[in-house]
Amino acid sequence: MSQVTLKTDQKTLLRMKDYYAGKLVKPVPYSLFTAKLNGLTITGYKSGKVLFQGNGSEAEASRWQTVPATSTTIKKPSRLTTDINAEQLPAGFSGLSVVGSDEVGNGSYFGSLIVCSVYAPKEQHAMLRDLGVRDSKNLTDQQIVKIAKRLEQEVVFSATKITPEKYNEIQPSMSQGKMKAILHNFTLLKLLEKMKPLEPEAILIDQFELPSTYKKHIASEANQVLKNVYFQTKAEGSHLAVAAASILARSYFLDSLQELSSQIGILLPSGAGSAVDNAAARVYRMHGMEGLRQTAKLHFANTQKAIKLAERK
Ligand code: MN
Repeated sequence: MSQVTLKTDQKTLLRMKDYYAGKLVKPVPYSLFTAKLNGLTITGYKSGKVLFQGNGSEAEASRWQTVPATSTTIKKPSRLTTDINAEQLPAGFSGLSVVGSDEVGNGSYFGSLIVCSVYAPKEQHAMLRDLGVRDSKNLTDQQIVKIAKRLEQEVVFSATKITPEKYNEIQPSMSQGKMKAILHNFTLLKLLEKMKPLEPEAILIDQFELPSTYKKHIASEANQVLKNVYFQTKAEGSHLAVAAASILARSYFLDSLQELSSQIGILLPSGAGSAVDNAAARVYRMHGMEGLRQTAKLHFANTQKAIKLAERK
């Protein structure tokens, strides 16, 4: 079983207990807390020793690693990065002038992959709220398109679109995670260039992988945006900049679906469910693999389902 031991101080120990508050079980003797998350047990001892046992122990421990770890499974413990932040956001973060970044389309079979970065300085926060900028999952497509039109006029932003055709070129030799990391880095660079000489107080990326993995993924890029970069899951709730980025990205994604639909003459739904399989089967019957290559992300399981469906009828 994979196991990692960390040595930490009382303050961190208490922060950990707080952090795992929803996952606490009855603590074992001499421990301050025991937490269980999917196949992983974390025990914080009063002595300052913290034991991570089970699946993902290494990744979970790296969240907290401030002193070298002793590990029974890895020879070289991964070093904690100082320029990239996985932990809580600084106090008052939502009031800062922040660049937010988010992507849309990675889970949809049809349509492009879009990454958007938006600068939301504090002077614009009230305006953004007035525009109705909030979690795009709670907005209808119509609302999203309307707000996006206004955002385009009001904020400094940059967007990157990877069409399905391009995506299918890249994907066989690159994981989606790496592709997304490189796209975020690229889009952030474009925006920071556009903003000069202004600089954001922080950058917040809607988290899609561990910060250490993100850093690895962009390691071979010539320019890496790492300074003041934070990651949070559901980050659209943490700052208006991410909420705005998410709305713009969603709107461009809808544009791309519409554009591809009219090019191919078949209405292409978003997502990856059975409506998508049926549309994909129609595309395949009428235009073969080439039709899918131009409209869809071929490595999704939908491709094989569509071929089966098409051949059945
Ligand atoms: Mn996201």
